[in-house]
Amino acid sequence: MSDLYELLDLPQGASTDDVKKAYRRKAREHHPDTGGDEETFKAVTHAYQVLSDPEKRARYDRFGDDGTSNGRGGGQDPFGFGGLGDVIDAFFGAGASGGFAGAGGGGARRNQPGRDVLVVVDLTLEEVVTGVHREVEVDVARGCDTCGGAGSADGSAAERCGTCGGAGQVQRVVRTAFGQLATAAPCTDCQGSGRRPTEPCTACGGEGRRPTKRTLGVDIPAGLEDGDRIPVRGEGEAGRQGAPPGDLYVQVRVATHEVFQREGRDLTAEVSVPVTQAALGGTLTVPTVDGEDAEVPVPAGTQPGDILTVRRAGVPVRGGGRRGDLHLVVKVEVPTGLDARQRELLAELAEVRGEPLSSEGAGLLSRLRGAFQR
Ligand SMILES: [Zn+2]
Ligand SMILES: [Zn+2]
Repeated sequence: MSDLYELLDLPQGASTDDVKKAYRRKAREHHPDTGGDEETFKAVTHAYQVLSDPEKRARYDRFGDDGTSNGRGGGQDPFGFGGLGDVIDAFFGAGASGGFAGAGGGGARRNQPGRDVLVVVDLTLEEVVTGVHREVEVDVARGCDTCGGAGSADGSAAERCGTCGGAGQVQRVVRTAFGQLATAAPCTDCQGSGRRPTEPCTACGGEGRRPTKRTLGVDIPAGLEDGDRIPVRGEGEAGRQGAPPGDLYVQVRVATHEVFQREGRDLTAEVSVPVTQAALGGTLTVPTVDGEDAEVPVPAGTQPGDILTVRRAGVPVRGGGRRGDLHLVVKVEVPTGLDARQRELLAELAEVRGEPLSSEGAGLLSRLRGAFQR
């Protein structure tokens, strides 16, 4: 099974917008009507279908392709999207009302749930360590208060749509990148559902849902990685005329930190140690990501590049479990701007240690000579 991202020439973190653009390009290239290979076209379309749907994409990212075929809306065929009419829908209309377009829109699908919605939340590394409560703004259609979501003004049930005769589709000629095509387009009077209330609710025009700005509180657990998503069931777009709502996904974007680099649960930072402390040993006080200082012993004879570790000062596992460690990479500071007294002390040290200030590169030379004598 080829990689879905590769099929669309996309990096793993590509945005939904990028997925759409890439698919548009690839669909044009591979569409059978323009001389493309049908199998490739199907594969590309399948990749788009998965990667443009946050739930399917999350499942694919986690489990690979096996998990992608039994998504919500079960009864659809595995392609569900292969028809040219649906491809056109992906290009025009269907996705235009915001949120996640996914493969929604085409055909007479009664009770089709509302779409899933993605909201991105920016986090600092500090917030990742503690977890945080966030208010997120979601601007998406929700059930109409006036008609209770049914779409009718008088509470009557929806009837067969007169425009499409209940089919949910009308034949239409569309001029596209592939040329002029006769295609079945979703009926605009019933939004493809094939049904319409006799007396539409005036507040929502019979849709049963209206654009609604809401602020939702979301608890973001500790330990998330950049790109992780928290599903909030039922808080996506409302379905039409009382159909079930989609889900909301809160995706975290973790800012890079000035001091700490993250590697899974562990953090790494560079720390300067004066040459005297490195030689003699001592204790170093360092700031941690919690904002508290930690004391870390510096063993005598510490070398540049040695690693000092502060246990449990890293990032917790997802949901706030055991924390990783903080690794400090030692940089030994050679003193500069010595005064007379300091020079004298160092010179004396050099003398006592038998390290003349003019010398051969002893270790290197003896190793070279040894090599020649062999
Ligand atoms: Zn209404
Ligand atoms: Zn209709």
